[in-house]
Amino acid sequence: MFMHNKRLQYTVRVSEPNPKLATMMLEQFGGADGELAAAMRYFTQGLGEEDPGRKDMLLDIATEELSHLEVIGSIVAMLNKGVKAQLAEGAMEEAELYRTIGASGTSAKESLLFGGGPALIDSAGVPWTAAYVDSRSEPTADLRSNIAAESRAKIVYERLINITDDPGIKEALGFLMTREVAHQKSFEKALYSIEDNFPPGKLPGIEKYANIYVNSSPGEGDATGPWNSGPQWERIDDLSQSLPIDGGDGTATVALGSGDTQLLDKLAARTMSDPNSDPVTGVDLGAGPGAGRVTGDDQGGAPDIQQAPAMAEATAPK
Ligand code: MN
Ligand code: MN
Repeated sequence: MFMHNKRLQYTVRVSEPNPKLATMMLEQFGGADGELAAAMRYFTQGLGEEDPGRKDMLLDIATEELSHLEVIGSIVAMLNKGVKAQLAEGAMEEAELYRTIGASGTSAKESLLFGGGPALIDSAGVPWTAAYVDSRSEPTADLRSNIAAESRAKIVYERLINITDDPGIKEALGFLMTREVAHQKSFEKALYSIEDNFPPGKLPGIEKYANIYVNSSPGEGDATGPWNSGPQWERIDDLSQSLPIDGGDGTATVALGSGDTQLLDKLAARTMSDPNSDPVTGVDLGAGPGAGRVTGDDQGGAPDIQQAPAMAEATAPK
């Protein structure tokens, strides 16, 4: 069961209201790399986990992410306190309130629909979605995704720290950012505490394809590095000589029943194209300036029009 502690995990000291900054902070509240996404990611992974050590870690971190959600949500609430009260109480003349809200840089949705409260949206007003959670219930895949998620959250916090000069907010964000660093370290350890964690899953890769690097975009700009060259790699530089890679004929085939074969033959016959026909079509009949060549030009039809008259006029030397 969950318990709630009335004290935050980190003290939130905001110097003054700033609705525009509140909107930006929402990115880590209801955004793709935000705290709700992190909490739901680890909570659901933890519930489904078989390993007692990983289960314990995932539920610890999930619960801490909920505490982070509380911290960042409290920052949003503090930054919006002024505007929330002004809206609710109709404290100003209509025109003045309209101008104040409009100039605050927040979305109308945030002000009018959510009334300045911390809404589960990102900094652009997009509602939070479970699609931000990409768990697959395979720890060697999920832990790698968790490591990447923590990296992304760290970077977004770094950007938020760079846009505010409020020392209290900077401090709280620095704490949240650093906790993502710590979580990344835990997930790395958990991943490498699984022996043979690569490749992910149970099935081994096929040995003869596992060491091939395919230079699929050959030409000027080709570069080499440990990611594609050296003793670990067999490079394929001439694609046309080495494909298909399995040594087969590179075609796609399927064994069909006789009924389906007959139907497919009928379909092919009905939709067969005639390369010798060159009928007049709608574009020929309606062709105007700029249409390019049309059917019949080579039999003395209208000459090619290079430019529409209006365009020719506009670009002609004066
Ligand atoms: Mn967090
Ligand atoms: Mn985290």
